Parts: sequence; C-alpha cells; structure tokens
Amino acid sequence: MGADGGSLSKNYNLRLTIREKASTEDSYDLQKLNSDSQWNFCRLSNKPLELPIVSDYKGHLFNKDEIIRWLLDPEKQDYNVQQVEEFQHIQRLNDVVHLRNLRQIDETGAIHCKFGDDAFKASGSIRFVYLTPCGHVFPKNIICKTTESCPRCKNKITDGEIVTINPVSQQDIDKLEDRYRAVTQKGLYHNGKKRKTKKTLKRKPEPTHEGDFKRTKP
Ligand SMILES: [Zn+2]
Repeated sequence: MGADGGSLSKNYNLRLTIREKASTEDSYDLQKLNSDSQWNFCRLSNKPLELPIVSDYKGHLFNKDEIIRWLLDPEKQDYNVQQVEEFQHIQRLNDVVHLRNLRQIDETGAIHCKFGDDAFKASGSIRFVYLTPCGHVFPKNIICKTTESCPRCKNKITDGEIVTINPVSQQDIDKLEDRYRAVTQKGLYHNGKKRKTKKTLKRKPEPTHEGDFKRTKP
C-alpha cells in the first residue's frame, strides 16, 4: 500500500477543486471536508500536515511554514476570501503555538501524539488538547480540571491554558472563544506572551519630503 507522488498530487488537486467548489456553492460540503481533512491537512495551504505544526486559539492545525508565508504576505493574494476572513486573527507568530510532543510516521505522514501514541484522525474516538504556552499535546482525558502541571515539562497549568484541537461541539468552540477573550483582556497573545502596548506599537512618523534632504548652510 502507500501513495506515490502522482496519486498524492492528484488527491491534493482534487481536494483543492472540492474546496473551491464548496466555498462558493455549498458550505455544508465544506464543513464535511473540513471535518475529514482537518487532522491531516494544513488549514491554509491544504497540503498534508508536516512537523513543525502550529495551532491558533481556535485549535486549527497549520504547517508552520505556511503560517510564515501567510504573515509575510500582507495582501494575502494567494488566499481566497473565506480564508482571509477565517484566519484574520493570525497576525503574528504570537497568535499561534508551536505544538510539541508529536511525531510523524515517515511512510504515511500520520501525526501521532507521543503520549499514548494515538494518531490524529477525525474518526478516532480520542480527542486532543494542547497546553499554552508550552504547546505539549495530550489526549483530552489526560488533562482534567485537577491536573496541576504539564505532564511533559511540568509547567504549571492555570485556567485558560488548555486548548482543544479541532473542537467539534459548540460548547468547546464557545469555550475557546471565551478563553481567547479572557487572554486578550489580560494583555496577552494566544501563546501567553505579553501584548505590546499601543505606545510601543506606535510607529515613528514618516519623514516629510522636506525632511528627507537636510538643508546645509551656504
Ligand atoms: Zn508542557
């Protein structure tokens, strides 16, 4: 078994075609496609996920390379309107967390959580979460309200540092939105780093035309 390069690229093109069609014609199809592919494909590029993987506050999965491409493209010319709208909250690397505690199987590309070695898949019964800011991924049932520290790096877990990956229930989705609001109100980015204040973000005014050429005394 296994897919050769040709069938992989065929699948990729097919997914793109379906996605384009769905985005314009049928949002229901898009949702179905998302639930099937969201564990194995980068949300932005539609390419197979490859380590290093990052995630936003909504628990979406992306290839880190693609997020960097996204951030370096202020015009977002390579993305469709829906993507630009859906991922507009990703404006800097602090808006995503680098996921750790994962391994990728060479032959299949499947992503596994090192804790328990379960694979990322939509049909699997195992749900996954990650902790911020460390980014360590665990099966959801490992991390509960009474878990005090990250089982991997021993970082203390405080409220709002647990993010469900690819949440399904509206309750989980709402929880992530609430968490993000709270994190923002605390003056932090999704990854826990301090937001820059307006003062430090203020750009120096552009020099005026006259200012560009210093007049020298005759
Ligand atoms: Zn950790």
